[in-house]
Amino acid sequence: MLRSLWHKTFPHGIHPRQEKEQTQALPIRRLPFSPRIIVPLSQHLGVPAIPLVHKGQEVVRGEPIAVADGFMSVPMHAPVTGVVEGIELTPTSRGPKSEAIILKTHHAASQQVMYEGDYSWESATPEELIHQIQESGLVGLGGAGFPSHVKLQVPEDHRIDTFIVNGCECEPYLTTDHRLMLEKSDALLLGIRIALRISGADEAVIGIEDNKMDAVEAIRTRIRPEDPIRVEVVRTKYPQGAEKLLIKALTGREVPAGGFPFEVGIVVNNVATLALLGELLPKRRGLIERIITIAGPGITKPGNYLVPLGTPIRFLLERVGYFGEANRLILGGPMMGSTVASLDVPITKPTSAILAFDQGSTRGEGEEISPCIHCGRCLDACPVHLNPSMLGRLAAKRQYATMEERFNLRECFECGSCSFVCPSHIPLVQYFRIAKSIQREKAA
Ligand code: SF4
Ligand code: SF4
Repeated sequence: MLRSLWHKTFPHGIHPRQEKEQTQALPIRRLPFSPRIIVPLSQHLGVPAIPLVHKGQEVVRGEPIAVADGFMSVPMHAPVTGVVEGIELTPTSRGPKSEAIILKTHHAASQQVMYEGDYSWESATPEELIHQIQESGLVGLGGAGFPSHVKLQVPEDHRIDTFIVNGCECEPYLTTDHRLMLEKSDALLLGIRIALRISGADEAVIGIEDNKMDAVEAIRTRIRPEDPIRVEVVRTKYPQGAEKLLIKALTGREVPAGGFPFEVGIVVNNVATLALLGELLPKRRGLIERIITIAGPGITKPGNYLVPLGTPIRFLLERVGYFGEANRLILGGPMMGSTVASLDVPITKPTSAILAFDQGSTRGEGEEISPCIHCGRCLDACPVHLNPSMLGRLAAKRQYATMEERFNLRECFECGSCSFVCPSHIPLVQYFRIAKSIQREKAA
């Protein structure tokens, strides 16, 4: 604990129970392939991909099946060898149905990646690398699904001096990044070398929370003397992995409100994205699978599993054993994840976890909401120094414009810290999500 106080961090934040012991020591395992794979054409922020295949067409694992529709889009690749059953509207974790390519898996065929080739990234220009990253379909795997080639392209009038690698994984339960840093540290370091070349940064700093000291050691021992890469240990605190807060903790720089990290000379990527960059690019491969944590009190065999994108949640839960109820399933972490509306929803590029909670195991469940007692805990918790108590009162009166204009609602990134500490169990972050979506609709 004393050692922890010396480590870098940001002001405010909270300390929820980590709950990582269920899976943090378990090596990554592959699960069998689902007989049916659902590949949504939109698994990222930006424009959906355009299908390249038709019903009845045979595809091999790794083959492009949808092409990017412009720069703010990425292609999709076949996660399995099989046949196209159709292109249909299917349920998504985001709510409304969206178009997806449905594949029937050939179980008799080899599920080796059949579609790849050599790519010598060392001799490619940054522009060529950006193009090849877009071709790989890579997006940020930390949650938002922002296309990686867009994030790595630095505007011409800005110079980057520091490339920050986010290895915090501050959400409770999640351990995919932890396992990946232990088991795929060479791929991660290769991805960082490629990213350094594209961004032109002088050095890369990997920020890892002090509850993962084995990962810190594993990476430090693999860094070559000539690599401009170092590891910095940061304090275990939620939401340490939020981009702007990690920048503040590691460099002391503040990204302006509504601004981007490149404005202060920084680009941030998370470890999962960079490890895949290091795996995919040298082989010209597309993104077809990812590691997810499946855990929580409602799971029989918790672990970190390597699964093809498009695998339905129902199939995964049947394999690992699930004894919760459908309305207690969360995609992503318990603080910022979303509840699952349908077990037919597939795993997509940004899905980091499936968590299953049995009755009574989530904080605040069944608790009565009482009036605000003005204790100020939510103000102490908010990492971006908002006034959640005031915002909550305005939300109750539906004064959404005032929330935005006078109390900086837009700066709220929905981390849930305020709701977590509120003794009155006021669902503040839910209020803020509703307020922000209403304001977005009005603006549109
Ligand atoms: S949810 Fe928003 S208001 Fe609440 S603590 Fe997080 S950033 Fe602050
Ligand atoms: S934590 Fe809850 S009770 Fe305390 S000031 Fe904030 S909203 Fe009010």
